[in-house]
Amino acid sequence: MIELTSPGIYVHVPFCRTKCAYCDFYSVTDCDIAERFLRAVETEAAMRGDEISGPVGSLYVGGGTPSAIDSELVSKIPGILSSSHGLESGAEVTVEVNPDDVTPAMLEAFLGGGFNRISIGVQSFDDSELAFLGRRHDAAGAAAAIEAARASGFERIGIDLIFGSAGQTLDSWRESLNRALEFDLEHISCYQLTLEPGTPLGERMLTGEAVCVEEEVQRTMFLETSSMLSGGGYTHYEISNFARGEENFSRHNMRYWLRRPYLGLGPSAHSFDGRVRRWNHRSVELWLDALQRGERPSAGEEELSGEQVRAERLMLGFRTLLGVETVLLKEHSGWEETLEELLEISLLRIEGDRVIPTVEGFLVADQLPLLFI
Ligand code: SF4
Repeated sequence: MIELTSPGIYVHVPFCRTKCAYCDFYSVTDCDIAERFLRAVETEAAMRGDEISGPVGSLYVGGGTPSAIDSELVSKIPGILSSSHGLESGAEVTVEVNPDDVTPAMLEAFLGGGFNRISIGVQSFDDSELAFLGRRHDAAGAAAAIEAARASGFERIGIDLIFGSAGQTLDSWRESLNRALEFDLEHISCYQLTLEPGTPLGERMLTGEAVCVEEEVQRTMFLETSSMLSGGGYTHYEISNFARGEENFSRHNMRYWLRRPYLGLGPSAHSFDGRVRRWNHRSVELWLDALQRGERPSAGEEELSGEQVRAERLMLGFRTLLGVETVLLKEHSGWEETLEELLEISLLRIEGDRVIPTVEGFLVADQLPLLFI
């Protein structure tokens, strides 16, 4: 069982060259202020040094698109945070990239700066699906980026894929999964397309256009994903995440699911100190202005009640293979009958003192907590 006692740090790099049709992450397309952004990250890290106690076990530089700006700037981030908080030896240090930004020089800069894990936003190996999603790259570019990352010396490579967009078939999805399997990657994330209000795809859905496949097809795609990747040697350890063995689980994301402390730096980043959750200004200007005034760039915070903490532990636990401790269910009257039924229909299973979701259980992971609240 993974024990992650040290905290993590997330840095949100808020720049993208273009906006993808489905994405509602905060980013801006003007990359000219990248240097100013980096100086501000350094200021924020120093200012918030007291919010988590280091050294840090994982650092994740995501976005936005870290590879959209000068790689020499991005490669300074591990060093900056090592100075402000300390990095454990063997810490997981991840950078996210877009396939069409990747060059050998960039990869060398990232490795030299201390990154030891790379996450590549492939999304699909089908050109028409990539065009539908509004991605800048094509399938050949995605394959070239993976090969370049391996050739440069990255030993931990992960890719993201998306399933469920309109026009995608079960066969074309299987094709993408088979291509992914050919690269012998350490980590594969497979996200179901979600339609967020305000995104181009979200707007198109409101006009009545079919922008994703039917629910039943999505369900089949999910089960097929689990079956194909498990058959290929991957552990399906979280609803959307697959790894070659526990050593390749995303330690950074595990911290979120286990409710471990993490510090979020950059516009829109969220932090959690084990008790209080805080979130930064979403707008890069407001975030920069606050730091320039010598203030923490916090836009709000909340502390959950005991009952909310329990609900959150159920919600996060049912997302992963770690499941939840049986004792957590016992606070709900009638829990035994409910658990019995869920075991009977194979949505849950018991392992020692924990209740673990099955693959079918992952499909309804958002509903399982409600049965014990
Ligand atoms: S999906 Fe990634 S690259 Fe596309 S707009 Fe969102 S953050 Fe930027």
